[in-house]
Amino acid sequence: MLHKNTLKYLYQDLDALIRQYSANQIDRFSFVSEVERLKQANEVILDGNEDFAELVESALLEKEYEILEQMASTALENAKAPSSAIRILILTGAGISAESGVRTFRDSDGLWEEYDVMEVCSVEGFERNPKLVADFYDARRRDIESKHPNAAHEMVARLKQKYPNQIDVLTQNVDDLFERAGCPDVIHLHGTLTDLRCEECQCVFEIGYKSQIGVICPACQSENIRHNVVMFGEEAPMYQKLQQTIDECDVFVVIGTSGQVLNVGWYAQWFEHSLLNNLDPDDSLDPYFKVVYHEKATEATEKIEVYVEKFLSI
Ligand SMILES: [Zn+2]
Repeated sequence: MLHKNTLKYLYQDLDALIRQYSANQIDRFSFVSEVERLKQANEVILDGNEDFAELVESALLEKEYEILEQMASTALENAKAPSSAIRILILTGAGISAESGVRTFRDSDGLWEEYDVMEVCSVEGFERNPKLVADFYDARRRDIESKHPNAAHEMVARLKQKYPNQIDVLTQNVDDLFERAGCPDVIHLHGTLTDLRCEECQCVFEIGYKSQIGVICPACQSENIRHNVVMFGEEAPMYQKLQQTIDECDVFVVIGTSGQVLNVGWYAQWFEHSLLNNLDPDDSLDPYFKVVYHEKATEATEKIEVYVEKFLSI
């Protein structure tokens, strides 16, 4: 996998260190400890990139500076996107759908007050009482049937339709409001409410807004079916896709997520350009983003659209 952004910044850091040291701007101790720090902080990336690993080792052994400088700048050139078009990752969370009236867990009148989240959204709870969990997801489907996409869903859909290959839309939401706004190819990180999954053959099939009680798998006729939403205690297979998209994109746009489930502040550090739109200020999240709008997503739509288009119309 090509870690475009992460690699690029690593090479830039290392290249700068080598240049500073060779020009006697930093002493030997600082140089070695900074290279060591880079090495430790990026072990995962070093693992998959022998060139970079070799460069770090050579730097630690203080080989000829000129050769090191050359290695670092060649590597930096290679790590840059091969003149490819700018790509933008739009990641959304509960905030965007809450404005359409979709009930969420974290709102002040949220579902926490009616349900014990560990009973309805965890592997243990599901094993203890599958009927309660099925009833819970039936209620969620009924809830979204009457809801409508809002201006923020429509803005994202418009952008994705206009730039299908340059924008990736990922959401933590399990509702279908992006699809109903006409947004193609939405990646649902935590699954989809309007689908069910067969536990026997793993087939995923659409159920719409209906109850899942009594439904059988259309592929293998098994009655062993379940909601298609990731529970606590389960792996989210789409997180791999998220990591890949983070590495491939150049601009990070986050709408309506507090960062409690996904560490979006941490991801934002890898991007040269980033925008966060949340209703409430958050000192532990906002500083990681270059542009921050504290207002409803439906009120920030125009600004977000202009921001995104700025990169794509160059
Ligand atoms: Zn099946």
